[in-house]
Amino acid sequence: MKVFITDRTFNNLVKKIDIDDLSDYISLSEFRNKIFDDAGLYSLFNQLDLKRLLVYKEILINDGKFQGYNFLEPEEDSKQFVYSRGGTFKYHLSFKCEALNRSYIDVFIPEEVKENELEDDFRDWFVELDKENKYINRIRGNSVNKEKIHKEILREYIRSFAKDNGLKGNKFNDKFQFIIEGKVSYIENDYSFDLEVFHEKINHYQRLKECLPIGPVINYLYKHDYLNNRKVDKLKEEVIRLLEKNNIEFGKDFFKNCPIEYVKEILVKHYKYKQEVIKLLKAFFRWTYSFDKIDFKIVDLEKLGLKCCGICAKNQSNFLQFLP
Ligand SMILES: [Zn+2]
Repeated sequence: MKVFITDRTFNNLVKKIDIDDLSDYISLSEFRNKIFDDAGLYSLFNQLDLKRLLVYKEILINDGKFQGYNFLEPEEDSKQFVYSRGGTFKYHLSFKCEALNRSYIDVFIPEEVKENELEDDFRDWFVELDKENKYINRIRGNSVNKEKIHKEILREYIRSFAKDNGLKGNKFNDKFQFIIEGKVSYIENDYSFDLEVFHEKINHYQRLKECLPIGPVINYLYKHDYLNNRKVDKLKEEVIRLLEKNNIEFGKDFFKNCPIEYVKEILVKHYKYKQEVIKLLKAFFRWTYSFDKIDFKIVDLEKLGLKCCGICAKNQSNFLQFLP
């Protein structure tokens, strides 16, 4: 029986799967032979990125078969949103399943709520607030002013939740929006993939990357993704700790020549370019090896901790009832 998984689930599987004869260190020549034949891209990635790209491609080449694997634990509740609360990854029995292709709307939990560990209270509060579909359902209408809905929620938040819980209700920057909209899809753009555009985009990011400064210390920092998330005031001590721990020499004038604000700026850019290139390469692999034709086996996926989607399971049992 053919089964289907989302792109997101596939990415999570890739993190857990090891493939045979995977070396600890993926060299430039291995990168060119096994992943993508473009030497200029190699330095963009760290070893973990390279391993994941290789596994991603290998699973596609091997038609969804894999040997070494680790159990994929249910996704933890990140406590970032009102409705998405983690859980088991699912596979689907029909590509028409509504859970496989759907838009979703969720609500961000504000920073000060998380700082005070009031996430569950906030969730209950919001669900109650939206009981009569005053907010989420309105977003689904096209002609709606989202900014207005955000402000309405913010007003309610300050008036009741923040007040009742002794929060200040003022920790919102200009960019904060309560509502997030996204889309779950089975495959992205695979039929509209354009090889010429792909190469143009790869070259574009390559040129951008070449404009970034390089040097032994900076190159080392580029390999550590978590740094680009650090706020500027914490970044300097984090960088120094990392360099000292790994005996990477940096002159005492390093931060004079390269102020921490500048380090932050180039780390963020480097990370962004890398993510774009990874996205492009994955789309290229999916197109080359027909992601939609992959024959995942239920028994393999269940060994990895995936479960059958509830909607699909129900449809399947309805269907079986009518068989002779
Ligand atoms: Zn399903």
